[in-house]
Amino acid sequence: MRDDQSVEVESTELLRTLIRNACVNDGNASSGQEVKSVDALEDFFAGSGLAWERHQSLPGRGSLIARIEGRDHSAPRLLLMGHTDVVPANPSGWQRDPFGGDLVDGIVWGRGAIDMLNLTATMAVAMRRLARSGFRPRGTLIYLAVADEEAGGTHGAGYLTEHHAEKVATDYVITESGGVPIPTPSGPMLSAAVAEKGGNSRRLVVAGTPGHGSRPLRSDNALVTAAEVVRRVAAYHPKARIPDEWRRYAQALGLAPDLTAALTDPDRVYETAAALEPLSLARTAHACTHTTFSPNVVRGGSKINVIPDRVEIDVDIRTLPGITPDEVDAMLSEALGDLAGRVEIQRLRSQLGSRSSFDTPLGDAIRRVSAALVPGSRVVPAMTTGGTDAKYFRWQGVPSYGFGLHSRRIPHTEYPLMFHGHNERVDTESLRLSAEMWMALCRDFLA
Ligand SMILES: [Zn+2]
Repeated sequence: MRDDQSVEVESTELLRTLIRNACVNDGNASSGQEVKSVDALEDFFAGSGLAWERHQSLPGRGSLIARIEGRDHSAPRLLLMGHTDVVPANPSGWQRDPFGGDLVDGIVWGRGAIDMLNLTATMAVAMRRLARSGFRPRGTLIYLAVADEEAGGTHGAGYLTEHHAEKVATDYVITESGGVPIPTPSGPMLSAAVAEKGGNSRRLVVAGTPGHGSRPLRSDNALVTAAEVVRRVAAYHPKARIPDEWRRYAQALGLAPDLTAALTDPDRVYETAAALEPLSLARTAHACTHTTFSPNVVRGGSKINVIPDRVEIDVDIRTLPGITPDEVDAMLSEALGDLAGRVEIQRLRSQLGSRSSFDTPLGDAIRRVSAALVPGSRVVPAMTTGGTDAKYFRWQGVPSYGFGLHSRRIPHTEYPLMFHGHNERVDTESLRLSAEMWMALCRDFLA
């Protein structure tokens, strides 16, 4: 690539490459094959003067670590982390090929365009430009392109923090997501993710008694019981809590004072969210104030003429920071009520939520750099409802934030629909903004 190419073109082309690599992670250990994008990033970094190495936990599950060594080993280090895997996409719901990386009228289309190949690409562009410019910061700068974020990070960030801890040792981390400008009466608000909910999965095993499907009267059909179990779990909501991150975020939105008060009141937030428009805000308000339960997979039955004796229901449970695995099981028992004795609860995954303070030197630098690039904006710390690899670092006490910058071209209300949804896309202006932000941030914070 030529030196005179713009930041925007470099970012766009690298993003299109990463999209076309289609490192689709379906949750199976053999999927993802992120080594394709590790190869692409090696090609991209070649000749820049950057030092890098690659690691893999399983065949094809590659991750890459690049670094610019600092001059002063007592200065704070910064790690920029992007994942290279994406979730599956069903092309029938898309206007364009989800793995084509089409560029149309300044918009890049494809799975991963905002989650988070856009940031993985723009971080890499910043790294290469900084390296080529001879950037020799005081504190070390580390770039991590990791596998497997979309299945919890076991084969990516989790593997590296466990098996190569010294290679990814840092004082601060930035990863996905945030920075979509939300209009408020006092100017655009950019959220920085400083906390996230815990990921818990439970399998509910419902037992019954097998019998002939031709004689259903008074039978003990596990599927019929399971239907009621699903209904109860879906209808259940534990008492709300108001995390500090949600209170500050809701207050920053500039909503009507009555609405802000209701959304930050544990006794009123559920009913308020249940009737609130737009739906995206309603879902955020609900998920940021409750441990949530979503029954998403069911397996059961064997043959059309056999009354089933076993049905499994997998429930996706997202806990507020501070909620323990035992509390999750107690909530499930409460939800099941008098059916609790007929359901075996199996723990598939129990991960705690995590949070970092934003009142840090890096938080201050993010505020400074963003205000310069997006005039009139302010950065507001927030909680994400999904999981990211930030947790692996927050669990170790390393402040970790989700951030990036976006233009106003794609309305902020579209973003929640595009994450793991149809027609995921990003505008090239947003790519330029993020790449410039990473460079400015590194020069501000590490120099
Ligand atoms: Zn992501």
